[in-house]
Amino acid sequence: MNNDRGLVSVSPPILLSPPDVGQLEQEYVLRAMQSGWIAPAGPDLTAFEQEIADRVGVAHAVGLSSGTAALHLALLSWGVGPGDVVPASTLTFAATINAIRYVGAEPYFVDSEPESGNMNPALLEDALALLRSEGRRVPAIISVDLFGKAADYTAISQIAERAGVRLLADAAESLGASWNGAPAGSFGDAAVTSFNGNKIMTTSGGGMLLTNDRALADHVRKLSTQAREPAVHYEHTEVGYNYRLSNLLAALGRAQLTRLDAMIERRRTWRERYRAALAGSPGVRILGGADDASDNCWLTAIIVDAAESDWTAQDLGSALTEADIESRPLWKPMHLQPVNAGLRGSLDGTSARLFANGLTLPSGSGMTESEFARVEQAIAAVAG
Ligand SMILES: *Cc1c(COP(=O)(O)O)cnc(C)c1O
Repeated sequence: MNNDRGLVSVSPPILLSPPDVGQLEQEYVLRAMQSGWIAPAGPDLTAFEQEIADRVGVAHAVGLSSGTAALHLALLSWGVGPGDVVPASTLTFAATINAIRYVGAEPYFVDSEPESGNMNPALLEDALALLRSEGRRVPAIISVDLFGKAADYTAISQIAERAGVRLLADAAESLGASWNGAPAGSFGDAAVTSFNGNKIMTTSGGGMLLTNDRALADHVRKLSTQAREPAVHYEHTEVGYNYRLSNLLAALGRAQLTRLDAMIERRRTWRERYRAALAGSPGVRILGGADDASDNCWLTAIIVDAAESDWTAQDLGSALTEADIESRPLWKPMHLQPVNAGLRGSLDGTSARLFANGLTLPSGSGMTESEFARVEQAIAAVAG
């Protein structure tokens, strides 16, 4: 907005989690272009896969056009299809559930632990017992690491193993986080991560399948390149997809990966600052508990207990919007989405309560001190 002297009187908006890219990323992408590897194959893609696999501690990584594509191909490769039921976290981004529906299987929603919003292992056990009693085939479970905090893989892996069900870990939000000292993305029979523009690191768009299962990695790589058989002519024995990550975007990812730890540290700083700013506000807590060390702090979310606080998450959201600062409710639980009407779940109201009382706050690693000061000021005006 301009005032009558023609001076800009409003600072630029502060976004929730914009891409944090600069000179280094430009250099990497330019070098990839100059190398001539413009196709969705090339040395940067191969190197990026190896670097992410090393970082996460898995044997194989397959670069794909999105995290959604990785979820889709993992389920396809495992033969999940019509008639199957796939229990999955209800408090997640739509992509987790869409992938189940792409293959024609039925999502079954599992509600959250109150502290983290991640899948509640006890409710997962309830879900498996019920589905078993109904004689349903359950080939896979999808857990989600919400906002960069790993789910309880001690419990969830054990439950999946005991039930003989494959575990697909949706680590789209949790690259760089850990559980019991092991990296997010290393759990389950396979995991996926995402390099979408708003994630902890970005390739503008992209994702990966992570696994120790060589046959799965090979099959997913083949499916992602139109399922071409190794023949000089184009020979196909199954339906393929055009889901491969391009070499240019992998170059962007390699630059981002060199900065991942620094970007996480920056987001963790904001987390601690939010914690300090809200410490005196009764009924207000940071989602995920006090253990920030193992969390990549992708997004900081607060939960405001309306019974104890004299302001609500919506009050703070409105005040931030007024100040040109982006905030957002938590993911709306998938069992409450019109597109999923009629689907079932093991639900106890926790995710719905978190959604009603939660707000995610600006958490970007590119945010400046003065921008963060603006956010603090807007919070102080509401929270005192
Ligand atoms: C972002 C996200 C995805 C999808 O990743 P894309 O790369 O955007 O396709 C899947 N699951 C969760 C939990 C996400 O946050």
